[in-house]
Amino acid sequence: MAFIRTQEKLKILADAAKYDVSCSSSGSKRSNASKGLGDATGMGICHSYTEDGRCVSLLKILLTNHCIFDCAYCVTRKSNDIKRAAFQVQEVVDLTINFYRRNYIEGLFLSSGIFKSADYTMERLVAVAKKLRTEEKFNGYIHLKSIPGASDELMKEAGLYADRLSVNIEIPTREGLKLLAPEKNREDFIKPMIKVKNEIIQYKSEKKLIKSTPLFAPGGQSTQMIIGASGESDQQIMWTSNYFYKKFDLKRVYYSGYIPISYDSRLPQIGTEVPMLRENRLYQTDWLMRFYGFEVHEILNEAHQNLDLDVDPKLGWALRNLEYFPVDVNTADQRMLARIPGVGMKSVYKIIQARRFKRLNWEHLQRIGIAINRAKYFLVCASQDFERRDLTGPQLKSLILQNTTSKYQKTLSPQMNLFE
Ligand code: SF4
Repeated sequence: MAFIRTQEKLKILADAAKYDVSCSSSGSKRSNASKGLGDATGMGICHSYTEDGRCVSLLKILLTNHCIFDCAYCVTRKSNDIKRAAFQVQEVVDLTINFYRRNYIEGLFLSSGIFKSADYTMERLVAVAKKLRTEEKFNGYIHLKSIPGASDELMKEAGLYADRLSVNIEIPTREGLKLLAPEKNREDFIKPMIKVKNEIIQYKSEKKLIKSTPLFAPGGQSTQMIIGASGESDQQIMWTSNYFYKKFDLKRVYYSGYIPISYDSRLPQIGTEVPMLRENRLYQTDWLMRFYGFEVHEILNEAHQNLDLDVDPKLGWALRNLEYFPVDVNTADQRMLARIPGVGMKSVYKIIQARRFKRLNWEHLQRIGIAINRAKYFLVCASQDFERRDLTGPQLKSLILQNTTSKYQKTLSPQMNLFE
């Protein structure tokens, strides 16, 4: 009987958790203590991603889908007429251990609706992590959601047991948040982020002096934004992202296309397609900012407030800035090499290595692995031919598109058109 009840809860609370995409398990360095269970060292955790890029390798559940708030975009909101359930702390611990032993999961992603109060909820999330670590000696990955408004003491405790903490800012702009979740305010999200950031810094510096200092949230902190629920532009989304990365040292910002779940005049209609392609373009932009040396204003600004859906953001930038091309791969610096469409960072490093010994031509570049079909319009090498032939940006774009098939082409979302 108890088993059936737990199964029923699992069904409800795993389903409710699927809307949260901030569950990547990268970045942790927790190694297995002697006789412990599991190991989250470096890339020791395997990631599985569904076709649309969502991580599925963790047991991903809510502690409860009861909530005292009524955020319009959330399936768990109090006014929604859905089946509710709540796990007890021990039930989550048992599920995690059982699933881990059966090799179903590599760790736990635990979030929750807010029941009674922020502290009451956070206390229970922390209790799950504490039991797993101290009683079950579980060394697998734990990602805990921070509950906005929870006390500093609880946040501190959470960081001692979890690999990663995250607090979702949900809506990219203050105005959007006010419209869709008037009971909430941005400061409630920011406060725990500041606390976690400061604790991470403090624990790291103490560890340099005292080796036995425990780890504090070694996988850092992350956040999630819902895309397409409140009419924000890509510029607003990425500027917010940029701010949070810089201000709070976030490891990741996740972008989650809004899935229409309610009849509410403030939100896109039920049946509106989830903006998956837009979500993908935002991730690409995020990548360019973090690893390719792009500043957010180069890609999104007042003159260009939304990303092109039909070309990736690096190609879009190159097409608007043809004066920087062609780039000579045999002499250009790393920054400019990274800006050539079709050349990833791994290829950039390989080019820099390889050109020490010889002048690179098309054949060499092909062997290095660059996407010649795009790159050939933007670079010159030891081979004589250069493929741009003085085309304009739009001409070049249509030429490239003619020769490209995108797996996302079919999924251009009508939801996008509402906001452009
Ligand atoms: S507080 Fe969180 S769980 Fe509750 S309705 Fe708002 S977004 Fe959903």
